[in-house]
Amino acid sequence: MSALDVIGMSAGYGTQPVVENINLTVESGTVTALFGANGAGKSTTLKAISGAIGVLAGSVAINGSATTAPLYQRARNGLSYVTEERSVFKGLTVEENLRVGGVDIPTVLALFPELEKRLRIKAGLISGGEQQMLSLGRAMVRGPNLILADELSLGLAPLVVTRLFKALRTAASETGLGVLLVEQHVRKALDYVDHVYVMRRGRVELDLPIAKAKNRIEDIENAYLSA
Ligand code: ATP
Repeated sequence: MSALDVIGMSAGYGTQPVVENINLTVESGTVTALFGANGAGKSTTLKAISGAIGVLAGSVAINGSATTAPLYQRARNGLSYVTEERSVFKGLTVEENLRVGGVDIPTVLALFPELEKRLRIKAGLISGGEQQMLSLGRAMVRGPNLILADELSLGLAPLVVTRLFKALRTAASETGLGVLLVEQHVRKALDYVDHVYVMRRGRVELDLPIAKAKNRIEDIENAYLSA
């Protein structure tokens, strides 16, 4: 079953599309990467999938059901949208952040044991990587069917980036979660994903299962150079 099916989608910020005729699928239990240079339209694609902006043409189906619902309603129906802007309350402790989120704290700590010794510390004082673990952990334990992750790893240390990718990979394999990951770390991400899409100038240019993507790393990286 697909966690996400995007068919012929065009979307933008006014009447003029920024992304056009996007076709992509995220199977349940898999991690799919969406690569492309700055301005290629990755974030716009994720925003349209999340319902944060409307679509101009085509359709978005989550868990097999086509939806035109707004963001808050898609969130209730199992979609989680996480970005590089770590959504933590900086003035609250890590524990308070988890309580406010209404999530089961031991489950988050099982995903990210690093947070255990930070529970009593204000979230604004922990490292960026720990903030992202808090933000992602909170999103993951709500049991979403689909996570849209927009450059989670921006500005984070390589070891932390690996931790985040591994956590998503494990959750996908174990719980059937579907993940759509927008990433700049192409080579690192390829170790954790099942499928790759590459966008260029508002369109999907490459659509590759992981085995093929690994043989075409140069083509993928060229999409960044010839933006
Ligand atoms: P980046 O990695 O830089 O975020 P991206 O591939 O995610 O790149 P988008 O952010 O989707 O690209 O941007 C695609 C195009 O849409 C760009 O030309 C950008 O200027 C335009 N754009 C992005 N956000 C808006 C907005 N809120 N209003 C109008 N145009 C926008």
